[in-house]
Amino acid sequence: MMTGSELRAARERTGFSLETIAKMARATVQRVTEWELGARPVPARLERELREILRQMDVGDEVERRLIAAGFAKCAWLEQQSNLTLAAFAEHARTCASCAARDRIAEEFIERDVRQGLIPRVGVSSVSPWITWLVCGALVFFFVGLLARGHNVLAEDYVRVGLLGALAWVGLVTVIWVAAKVFLKRGA
Ligand SMILES: [Zn+2]
Repeated sequence: MMTGSELRAARERTGFSLETIAKMARATVQRVTEWELGARPVPARLERELREILRQMDVGDEVERRLIAAGFAKCAWLEQQSNLTLAAFAEHARTCASCAARDRIAEEFIERDVRQGLIPRVGVSSVSPWITWLVCGALVFFFVGLLARGHNVLAEDYVRVGLLGALAWVGLVTVIWVAAKVFLKRGA
């Protein structure tokens, strides 16, 4: 449960306006004021979202503290950015020692959060190699199936043959995956 004063403190720390909070919660500004005054309970979903934002701000502060402790100066360029994209930051970090270090430190926190399940794993590298194998193999077999049988089967059977090839591949990978799981469990 988030109290009204906690909500207000969260709003002040994040710098969000009453309007922004209202938008987040799909409510009216009047309603947000009532929450802050404790006249109505703060919705659980809004609380979750705000607590996550606050947690990330804490992480940001911690990254900054470590950066200073490691002897890096604050980056003047970074502090001027209001709508920074990841791509722009990555480009800048190539020539800024402070931001390159910030990136490295932040990476450790991101990895920790992913390990603890606080944030989902995203990006290409996060996709299980099994899934990649499954999808790529299925696509290859689908088209190979089409090509290999294309000359011999009726036009309306092309897709079916490709699908059968793909399904065979999916089945094969699944069998190997299960076998690997069982084997690894025994080995551990
Ligand atoms: Zn920088």
